Amino acid sequence: MTLAAETSLHSDVREFLSRPGRLLIDGQWVDAASGRTFSTEDPATGGVLVEVAHGEAEDIDRAVRAARKAFEDSPWSRMKANQRERLIWRIGDLLTERAEVFGQLESLDNGKSAGIAQVVDVGWAADVFRYYAGWATKIEGKTVNVSMPFAPEGAQFHAYTLREPLGVCGQIVPWNFPLLMAAWKIAPALAAGNTVVLKPAEQTPLTALLLGELFEEAGFPPGVVNIVTGFGDAGAALSAHNDVDKVAFTGSTEVGKLIVQAAGGNLKKVSLELGGKSPNVVFADADFDIAVPGSLNAWLFNHGQSCVAGTRLFVEDRIFDKFTQAVADAASQVKIGPGLDPTSQLGPLVSKEQFDKVSRYLSEGLADGARALTGGKRFGDDGYFIEPTVFVDVKPEFSIVREEIFGPVVAALPFNAEEGVTAAANQSDFGLAAGIWTRDISKAHRTARSLRAGSVWINQYNGFDTAMPFGGFKQSGWGRELGAESVELYTQTKAVNVAL
Ligand code: NAP
Ligand code: MG
Repeated sequence: MTLAAETSLHSDVREFLSRPGRLLIDGQWVDAASGRTFSTEDPATGGVLVEVAHGEAEDIDRAVRAARKAFEDSPWSRMKANQRERLIWRIGDLLTERAEVFGQLESLDNGKSAGIAQVVDVGWAADVFRYYAGWATKIEGKTVNVSMPFAPEGAQFHAYTLREPLGVCGQIVPWNFPLLMAAWKIAPALAAGNTVVLKPAEQTPLTALLLGELFEEAGFPPGVVNIVTGFGDAGAALSAHNDVDKVAFTGSTEVGKLIVQAAGGNLKKVSLELGGKSPNVVFADADFDIAVPGSLNAWLFNHGQSCVAGTRLFVEDRIFDKFTQAVADAASQVKIGPGLDPTSQLGPLVSKEQFDKVSRYLSEGLADGARALTGGKRFGDDGYFIEPTVFVDVKPEFSIVREEIFGPVVAALPFNAEEGVTAAANQSDFGLAAGIWTRDISKAHRTARSLRAGSVWINQYNGFDTAMPFGGFKQSGWGRELGAESVELYTQTKAVNVAL
């Protein structure tokens, strides 16, 4: 084990890392059928953290069978809604109690700041479990006032709908918010009474496994939540499995399209949270002192490894030079270092692969003729650190303007009219999120309506809440997670009609 800051680790994190990660199937911690393992690494050093079971199609199949059994015939399938509520709530409490441990583990596996992970990733995951715990007792159908035009005169009916769980849900999550994305998916699925097979990202399997221990501790029946660590082939097996009723995926648009194809075999339900290249629009009348740090956070939060990152920064031409320079100055002052160092504000990218990909975009941007106001290269010689980079002198056709980089890189473009900027901002295959900064409320709301994006944040960025639906227009996805919408993603309607 090579760790960035070994001495500051919580004893529970050390203990967790002292044993290999195994698969959670039917309430048992088991090895992969093949006996194979893979290593997960600390991106601050490139050193190996621990070995984890390498789950494949056979393991996915075992997990799906366990989930099916738990769904059809188990204490879970007979459980009352308020009992499910208490179990799910307990996960929220356990996460809160262990926030430091989860935060450190997330930091080690992903590279993000342990302090931020504790508050954002773990704190919010706990909130998500509590929010959906409350939903378990509030999933309702309705009575319907039917006319039954073909029925004999005088016949009476009692018609109503039920909202029922879908069954076995396959859930595939990425590495950028490993625990949080698992929470977004597992919590509503359980609230509705489904069972789950979770496939964490190969880069960041650890917090999902620790979360798996909490389900045992909280008293969930075996097989309700199953966790299979592994690679893309395990995800592919899950999305193609004929006994899976729904697949929920967060990750790249490219893999999202593969999931849709794989799901075609049994026409399982599909929901997708995919990539983005979100516009962040700063009008000249914005509050400069709030818009500068807000716009920095928009693209730099989580090292830019965020699907909603505001990486196309549109700035009104009158303030373009001053504003972009202020953002670049703020970016150049960000302290870079390992996520376990409490003074560091920007950690390493998640993996060598991601580091190489972002480095390629930096070279491409410079070769195309973009100018870096700050950054433009790697930081230090060890680990996968990249300097925050602000590109100006860019054209809409540059790859750094069109494609999702998933790193600490922003491209700034000037504009001179409200209509022009919304047209330019909408010129993208993606439509996940957008930011608007202005003091003019009419302009703010007009612009919000014109932007083709699933979430619009005004005078803030990353304005998420568990109660607010989240998802993408265009190629950024199908369906909405969070809020009441996610309960709909995990239930289906049954229409019952009784002749009285
Ligand atoms: P990815 O391949 O889309 O990975 C997301 C999840 O899907 C992982 O659990 C992955 O497993 C799994 N997976 C891979 N191939 C699959 C398949 N054929 N069928 C089913 N599941 C499959 O993303 P990535 O390779 O980690 O990152 C590539 C790029 O995607 C990033 O650079 C970024 O641009 C984008 N991305 C977007 C988001 C987002 O939130 N929108 C998140 C992550 C990445 P493995 O990890 O084992 O491959
Ligand atoms: Mg890792």
